[in-house]
Amino acid sequence: MTTRSLLAVAGTARLKVLDRRKSGVDGFVKYLFRSGDETFETVRIPLQMPRWSVCVSSQAGCALGCAFCETGRVGFTRNLEPWEMVEQVLTVRREAPERPVTGAVFQGQGEPFQNYDNVIRAAQVLQHPCGGRIRGQNITISTVGILPMIERYTAEGHVFRLILSLTSAFDDRRVGLIPVGRRYMVADLAAAMRRHAEKRGDRVHLAWVLMSGINTGQDEAEELARLFRGAVLRLSVIDVNDPTGTFKRADDTERSAFFTALARRGIGFIRRYSGGADIHAACGMLASRAGGGDALNAPPPAPFPGPRVLG
Ligand code: SF4
Repeated sequence: MTTRSLLAVAGTARLKVLDRRKSGVDGFVKYLFRSGDETFETVRIPLQMPRWSVCVSSQAGCALGCAFCETGRVGFTRNLEPWEMVEQVLTVRREAPERPVTGAVFQGQGEPFQNYDNVIRAAQVLQHPCGGRIRGQNITISTVGILPMIERYTAEGHVFRLILSLTSAFDDRRVGLIPVGRRYMVADLAAAMRRHAEKRGDRVHLAWVLMSGINTGQDEAEELARLFRGAVLRLSVIDVNDPTGTFKRADDTERSAFFTALARRGIGFIRRYSGGADIHAACGMLASRAGGGDALNAPPPAPFPGPRVLG
């Protein structure tokens, strides 16, 4: 296909950067984008080596209303198109060329599996050698548990890592935190994730938003061990970030007791750092709101090159 015919079928639009904020604490950067009438956010995450990972939004807002999440409180506007997700990553790459972008995680605004086809398309473009050139294993899709889509994803055999944000092993507790848990029971989600891990020859990856007095108990560790007996489990534990103050972070003693309970049952875990809290960039804080940190005045991106007619 010539450049001219390619440009005839492909868009060349870019996202408008409304704001960039850099955390004064840990170097996380939050982008506020506009596309059409909608705004959404992206987080540039500094990793060691050094390199960048990008936390990508898959929807403008979110319809699922998780109790501990700012995005859920603003409501849903629309699904993002594949190019709008890819462009979030490419904008970071263009504006911060001093490090390579080696990872992407669909864990920004929105539930990726409620925009399944577009998210898979975007991940494929990000992985492609002529696209984002990010290793498939370094692209993560995070879901709060849309069971039919987990099963479809497993059947389709994608290379990207899948992580289920479980956050409680008990249905009654989980429903109060993640309302979609009314439709998809913990036992069914656990079975689906076990099948997924078996098919991939991988561990079961779960995320756990840690909230004081809610999901830090021995009972949670015990139930996790029961649900995933015989599977290799890895729990990514992240402290809650709730600007409303409804949900509190566990202190060191409470968190350590939970970790000890997991370790005693042979459950692997890592404590994930949730950065950029001062710029509302941390997990659970994305609500298309500018403010905090230092405004970054990056040079305007270079205009898209005009068509070079090759033949
Ligand atoms: S945690 Fe995820 S699924 Fe739940 S409201 Fe927030 S963005 Fe939506």
